[in-house]
Amino acid sequence: MNEREMDAETLSAVLLKIEDRRSWDARAELARTLEIERAALALGDELIAARARLCQINMRMRSGDVTAAAEQIWHVHQWAMEHDARQLLARTHLVWSAIHLHLGDAEQGLEHAVLAVELLDDDATDHMRVWHRTKLADALYFAGDMDAARIRYAQAEELAVHLGSPALLCLLNNYAYVEASLGNQALAEEVTERLQQLSAEWGIPLEPAFLDTIGAIQVSNGHYAAAAETMRLCLERHTEGKWDDANDMAQYLVTLAQAQRGLGEFAAAQDSLDESRRQCVERDLGESLVRVHQEQAELHAARGDFRAAFEAHKTFFEVHHQQQSLQREARSRTRQAMFETAEARQEAERFREQARRDPLTGLLNRRYVDERLPSLIHTDPELTVALVDLDHFKQINDQLSHDVGDQVLVRVAQLLAREVTAACPEGFAARMGGEEFLVVLPDTTLPRAHALLDGIRRAIRGQHWAPITRHLPVTVSIGVAGLADAPASAQAPLLSTADGHLYAAKHGGRDRVVSAADLHDCVGHASAA
Ligand code: GH3
Ligand code: MG
Ligand code: MG
Repeated sequence: MNEREMDAETLSAVLLKIEDRRSWDARAELARTLEIERAALALGDELIAARARLCQINMRMRSGDVTAAAEQIWHVHQWAMEHDARQLLARTHLVWSAIHLHLGDAEQGLEHAVLAVELLDDDATDHMRVWHRTKLADALYFAGDMDAARIRYAQAEELAVHLGSPALLCLLNNYAYVEASLGNQALAEEVTERLQQLSAEWGIPLEPAFLDTIGAIQVSNGHYAAAAETMRLCLERHTEGKWDDANDMAQYLVTLAQAQRGLGEFAAAQDSLDESRRQCVERDLGESLVRVHQEQAELHAARGDFRAAFEAHKTFFEVHHQQQSLQREARSRTRQAMFETAEARQEAERFREQARRDPLTGLLNRRYVDERLPSLIHTDPELTVALVDLDHFKQINDQLSHDVGDQVLVRVAQLLAREVTAACPEGFAARMGGEEFLVVLPDTTLPRAHALLDGIRRAIRGQHWAPITRHLPVTVSIGVAGLADAPASAQAPLLSTADGHLYAAKHGGRDRVVSAADLHDCVGHASAA
């Protein structure tokens, strides 16, 4: 079945398989996850689409395009935060961690790796439980805390054995690599022995990258025959499988050459190096080329040709420095891209914030109400709202000036915002237009809201208005409505009920608060001034 014919559940299951294993073919996987994203969007399933996008970012990251990954991760991360998508967030933190480690920022890398573990919950897959802990251990190693890293590797290993998770193989590979790079070759080899034993027991063939780790450790320990055997298997598997990373192949050939040199098979070693160099030149693989020159120097020396060894070493040194400066440039481009993305996002956020504010009073506006109120109505049965309208405001404009009218609106807005936040931190006040405001009070019963709003009414009338309006008083009429009063649980009926009560307040003499309860007795008496 192709992705376009799948329902959301099937798409999600297909995607989970991709999320929870190491890909043998990043390019094919990229194409597949693009299809899944398209299909998910067609079904209107944003979560699956965001998950598919994260997989794509991960593939880009792994095929070396860190800049693209760094630019795109923001959107998925933001979506996951806004929608409280915990698992997705745990996975995005893992990618963030990899990006920061790539940029040489071990501290940030560690911070994200910690979050990737902290966000694991009952819904996390076995793979995530093992893999996220492994990546945390890796990050601890990069941050220079190998003692803590060892504890984490051991915990992850224990858990992986308990769960029987194939992620154990990746874990042991990483752990062995880390010990080897710290010079603990004997310990590293012990770990690779566990790795090989498990692979045999579980009938899961070791992937070429793991075999390369094993081969390099065997070389370091002087086990050249074993290493040559490991690397032959590695290359065989690389050729068989759909591995598309030529960089890897060139690296494997260098490890093979090292093993062959150790065995004294100099001609074979030279052939392996020549093939690796050919691939490096053909595909512009700078990083691997550095290793080719380094091993070439070693090979010349092993043959006793020290002049050629010295020349090869000089080339190695030069290429190594070039490569380092290229990497530095690439990293600074990635950092720049991340910075620009962050800035663009802040700009967009400022713009969104502005669009939700009334320019005269700085209060939230009707657009914000339209965005926010429906979900509150949906989730809060004790929601109460009130329309607040200035009394005889036209007089202020007419007898004083439009400018004075504006000043009054600003003062009333400030007072509303202050009083509402003080009485109900979850609540807010908005300017609906003209001299009409809306107060929204979540989780507030009608009687409480009534009392609170009457306090606001008195506070407005009690302001020292004379410096602004001289002889004219400033008062408001307020119509209150709870969800129970409205004919239906939706914004329009709720606001129209409040508007009906506001009309009653005006009709009853203004400067008063009216809710459904007041209509049953005599209009407005309960709270009239
Ligand atoms: P009522 O007590 O019945 O509400 O009387 P009112 O005069 O307050 O109501 P009406 O709807 O007749 O007049 C509202 C006035 O508010 C008319 C309009 O010019 C004025 N107004 C609307 N927006 C603004 C504004 O931004 N600044 C100023 N200064 N006046 C505004
Ligand atoms: Mg008015
Ligand atoms: Mg009005």
